Amino acid sequence: MRALARITPPILLATALVCSAAGPAGAAEPPPKVPEAVGWGGAVASVDADATAAGIEVLRKGGNAVDAAVAVAAALGVTEPYSAGIGGGGYFVYYDHATGRVSTIDGRETASRTADTSLFLEDGKPLPFADAVTSGLSVGVPGAPATWETAVRLWGKRSFADALRPAERIAEQGFTVDRTFQDQTALNQARFKDFPDTAKLFLPGGALPAVGSTFRNPDLAATYRQLGREGTDALYRGDLAADIVNTVQHPPVDPASGRNARPGKVDAADLAAYRVRRQQPTHVAYRDYDLYSIAPSSSGGTTVGEALGILEDGEVGQYDGTQYYHHFLDASRIAFADRNRWVGDPAFNDVPVRELLSERYAASRACLISPDRALTSPLAPGDPRHPARCGDTGAAPAAEPYEGLSTSHLTVADRWGNVVSYTLTLEQTGGSGITVPGRGFLLNNELTDFNFTPLTPGVPDPNLPGPGKRPRSSLSPTIVLRDGEPLLATGSPGGATIITTTLQVLLGRLDRGLSLEQAIAAPRASQRNTAATQAEPDFLALPERARLEALGHVFASTPEIGAATGVERLPDGRWVAAAEPVRRGGGSAAVVRPAP
Ligand code: GLU
Repeated sequence: MRALARITPPILLATALVCSAAGPAGAAEPPPKVPEAVGWGGAVASVDADATAAGIEVLRKGGNAVDAAVAVAAALGVTEPYSAGIGGGGYFVYYDHATGRVSTIDGRETASRTADTSLFLEDGKPLPFADAVTSGLSVGVPGAPATWETAVRLWGKRSFADALRPAERIAEQGFTVDRTFQDQTALNQARFKDFPDTAKLFLPGGALPAVGSTFRNPDLAATYRQLGREGTDALYRGDLAADIVNTVQHPPVDPASGRNARPGKVDAADLAAYRVRRQQPTHVAYRDYDLYSIAPSSSGGTTVGEALGILEDGEVGQYDGTQYYHHFLDASRIAFADRNRWVGDPAFNDVPVRELLSERYAASRACLISPDRALTSPLAPGDPRHPARCGDTGAAPAAEPYEGLSTSHLTVADRWGNVVSYTLTLEQTGGSGITVPGRGFLLNNELTDFNFTPLTPGVPDPNLPGPGKRPRSSLSPTIVLRDGEPLLATGSPGGATIITTTLQVLLGRLDRGLSLEQAIAAPRASQRNTAATQAEPDFLALPERARLEALGHVFASTPEIGAATGVERLPDGRWVAAAEPVRRGGGSAAVVRPAP
């Protein structure tokens, strides 16, 4: 749990300016981190108490859900700097109550216009993954700053500078380090120490930040101030752009470390050319609900949507526990077989979005599921443009690519009924590990979401690097309407498990009679067209496990899957904010005026 340290003795601030992260005993107690809140006036759920509080502050001061979402995102850039921030990207989904429309912003990072399929090849061979991650090569042009500015300009009630202000204050005054922050720093220690600017910021005095100490980032506060003053032009064209380009092209690595941090390709022209995309959301009508999510370049909307289409064939609400999980797992398996074959950046591939989400295609895939036995993976993809009566193309299945496990999801609703579901990411926890000197933020490693070589020889791969291309994502920010009114919004971090987590939360809430909080807390499993299904220990302890294994499901234990958040509107107009009770150290839910 990280909390704004409200009392900042001048002497400690002076120390902090020298070493950037001071550790005063007796910093203000962090605000309580609760996983559920109910009440009026709007709601915010994120992984972090300070970030959630920043959103509530903006809602209280008359900002709407968009202003508050940007404030939460900017605050996460301070308190969750390894998973979120202006060095990364993400996808923003917005329901506007006045028009009843759902709009999206694709703020995905892009490859340089000089990149091609050989981006991650050396002597014709793919680079070792870890080498690619911690390099300038993996850094895409950041999309988060343009997303925030665009969202506030299009739909906000306040200025961009106003939305950044709470985060600027948290960066200046500091937040209290918790166990999760320390653990995530420890995970990165070996590479952070090789980059002096990263080490200076995140390993104060060469050590992990102590739990309970106050962590300040005055460089980031100054960066936010500059963005508020000058707009994101500073970052895409001005002196900040020059700093980013210099850092990507000459990663500031300690020569004594021996690390070969390959230079990247992104240059000033790439930054100047960056634009967010404003494509239509994906839409699926599922039972009594309309679900909206993000279209490619993320595979989130199409894959969650396809799985729901497959599941709509049966009565998910009526199944016993075993059949429920069995259908959930096999529908996910099928949807992943298709996403790996068909989904990539639509500017480079003709992605069959409408067909993947069509009832006809869903029916042609749903019939593969038998109540008596699990499907086996890898399963071949289908052809959404020419659905078979029942089955697949018989083509070679595409392997499941590796994806990192970082990212942060936030959900916000306001008193006017507007809703935001926004997932932002640097890709891996800690991104590329490279901090822009003097600017206080890490650069992403999003380009490692491309496949370095075709996943399966002979099968077209829509997710190879290309000039100005966006790597395929799994982010799945989702908004659900019923009768044209907002019902709930949800999403999660977790690489490709984001898709199965979002699906599981939706099924839990919409079909299985769980409240949103229960649906988020429920034990998780993730099947992504691999032989074994990843499952949390609590899932493996369920009585259904043995029956699922008898059907042929194979499980591999994994400590934790995802870190979802959500908001829901109750029939009387109150909002529920919901976050994880336990995963990732627990999330933070709040409403403007509590009324349980
Ligand atoms: N970079 C991944 C994506 O966009 C997400 C990584 C994560 O959530 O850990 O799909």
